[in-house]
Amino acid sequence: KAASSTVEARYARWNPNIELSRADDFSLSALHAHLAAKGFSRLDTPVYPVPDKSYFMDPHLTEHLLVFPASSTWWVGDKWYESGAVILQDKASCFPAYVVMDGWDPAEGECIDATAAPGNKTSYMSALMGAEGTLYAFERSPKRYQTLCNMLQKAECGNVKATRGDFTETNPADYPNVTRILLDPSCSGSGIVNRLDYLVDADEAEDDEQAERLEKLAAFQLQMIQHAFRFPAVRRVVYSTCSIHAEEDERVVAKALASGKGKWKLAPREWVLPSWERRGLVEELGDAADSVIRCLPEDKTNGFFVSCFVRVDAGEEVKA
Ligand code: SAM
Repeated sequence: KAASSTVEARYARWNPNIELSRADDFSLSALHAHLAAKGFSRLDTPVYPVPDKSYFMDPHLTEHLLVFPASSTWWVGDKWYESGAVILQDKASCFPAYVVMDGWDPAEGECIDATAAPGNKTSYMSALMGAEGTLYAFERSPKRYQTLCNMLQKAECGNVKATRGDFTETNPADYPNVTRILLDPSCSGSGIVNRLDYLVDADEAEDDEQAERLEKLAAFQLQMIQHAFRFPAVRRVVYSTCSIHAEEDERVVAKALASGKGKWKLAPREWVLPSWERRGLVEELGDAADSVIRCLPEDKTNGFFVSCFVRVDAGEEVKA
């Protein structure tokens, strides 16, 4: 059953890429000043529901994410939003990009966002890379590819090379320097409560009986992970969904580990938002459930799942 209830907050992500490229001051401190001038009070600690005309820095994504009252709609027309310096993105949707880029060193190599449109996570990855190095972004759907290109332009993601195409048809040997891959493939979308940033395929969502649909999605999701494992230098693969179904989450992870022939394991909790309390389902993954995270509307986010695979022979070296 899909997640119900509402998310008691609205999130705005400060996008540092704009600050890097413009003469105007688009720094985080300028954003705080802009909000103060609009009559917003900055709170030192989180309060939910967020009081009217208040905001605070998110306690998990402390450098980039601002938390506002759920009713906030005033961004449209505001210079910060229109310029791309602020991106409206659910907190849980920021997590996969954060986990895949954590500890990133530009000398390490290149990255891939395998399923990129509309580009929220791509643009966050780009920001976390300081808009340097190379981030390849793939998107299969022509229409969504256009949406992705528009977003990358608006968010000034100059280090992203976007390609319209199927990630599973890429030749891993053509990407010998890619060390990190984000996989956020199509899913049932059962976790989405506030439809802020997701374009879940409506046709898919109406098709078939639930079990058959989840089975098909899970087979596709597993195939995507297995393809990511084939990239010669990849050391970290983050797999996420906006689904709350174990069939698309823990069970896909378990199958991917089993098919990885011992070459891949789940990253330890310390690498995957250790302070986030809601971990995976123990009944599905046993002790390894601690390595993955789940999000629910009770956590003031959409329903979400994030896992991080590391290559066994190189995994420990990745973290800075
Ligand atoms: N990561 C995106 C974001 O945060 O903005 C959302 C991704 S959405 C859940 C999944 C996307 O993957 C869809 O746009 C879909 O068209 C695309 N997709 C599905 N299969 C693909 C494939 N084999 N290769 C590339 N893109 C694919």
